[in-house]
Amino acid sequence: MTDFIPFNRPVVVGKELQYMAEAIAGEKLSGDGPFTKKCSTLLEQELGVPKVLLTTSCTHALEMMPILLDFQPGDEVIIPAFTFVSTVNAFVLRGAKPVFADIRPDTLNLDESSLEALITHRTKTIIPVHYAGVGCEMDTVLEIAARRGVRVVEDNAHGLFGKYKSRYLGTFGVLAAQSFHESKNFSCGEGGALLINDPALAERAEIIREKGTNRSRFFRGQVDKYTWVDVGSSYLPSDILAAFLYAQLENRAKIQFHRQKVWETYYGGLKDWAARHEVQLPYIPAYCEQAYHMFYMLLPSLDLREDFIAYLRDLGIHSVFHYLPLHLSAMGVQFGGKPGDCPVTERVSDQLVRLPFHNALTENDQQRVIEAVLEFDF
Ligand SMILES: *Cc1c(COP(=O)(O)O)cnc(C)c1O
Repeated sequence: MTDFIPFNRPVVVGKELQYMAEAIAGEKLSGDGPFTKKCSTLLEQELGVPKVLLTTSCTHALEMMPILLDFQPGDEVIIPAFTFVSTVNAFVLRGAKPVFADIRPDTLNLDESSLEALITHRTKTIIPVHYAGVGCEMDTVLEIAARRGVRVVEDNAHGLFGKYKSRYLGTFGVLAAQSFHESKNFSCGEGGALLINDPALAERAEIIREKGTNRSRFFRGQVDKYTWVDVGSSYLPSDILAAFLYAQLENRAKIQFHRQKVWETYYGGLKDWAARHEVQLPYIPAYCEQAYHMFYMLLPSLDLREDFIAYLRDLGIHSVFHYLPLHLSAMGVQFGGKPGDCPVTERVSDQLVRLPFHNALTENDQQRVIEAVLEFDF
């Protein structure tokens, strides 16, 4: 029996254990300690973002958005139907009405040509999700949003260090959310960050993240006591997790180099097979530098996709599919979702499969995956 090849493996890439030991020895285990500051400063400087706040998850960074944007019940948010549940849940929690947009058939990103028709007088926000770390058509999205008086925030869970027209993903919206879940390029198990591109939102974001108190200003000596000043929750991760994350971020060049190589090896090894079998491989527009988050393929049908996943499983290779169309989910139909509303999402959701892709995938294991795929004939 050959070894099982997992879809994901969260691994140590540098000084994670040393930094966690340092955090523990420093006896500062709660949030906003030295390693949290190192992570946020690194991200601010690297991305050119005025303010970055580490959060307990991307979901929590997303949850802070509608609070910061003063969402009222009934306000509408335009969201791609093909994304993770957290993108929509964060807004629905504040009483927002989700309006689902379909995706482009080439990049699987928000279809910007559908936006105008979805905007109403209640639309407050559009949330592009940079699927697989490939940028959405941000020029068009920003132009429409500015003209119609709607704000843009980004779900950049897949896209850290990816670029659209030479500008980092996560720097286009007034706010952007990052994920450091173990399935993402950079991880601390569970974690995230809120990127704040509009400095006017920074002070309130700190308050919301600190239980609705002005504790951050107190620690900086800007006020002489701290108290309850706004709504809020506890969205700051322990400094032990930030220590783990800092080691990963420090190794960003190494991690991204490895992931680029994995991606290119899949693409080069599979493109002829894919063309012969009408399997769609990822498309990266020339002006996008992708973040190498995943390698997906679209098989011609749901049946073939299911056969393919079972075939790989029998060979000890774990592949996965995602997302189920949000507008057809149990919650989505309560907001009026019907079959046919987002035809590209519905088709892609049936066809998509993701191959093993992680920071410790070896050349040998990857060759085994590629050879297995090449022998899947249909
Ligand atoms: C992973 C992911 C999230 C949620 O991230 P968490 O850090 O697990 O909360 C949100 N949106 C997208 C697109 C994701 O892939």
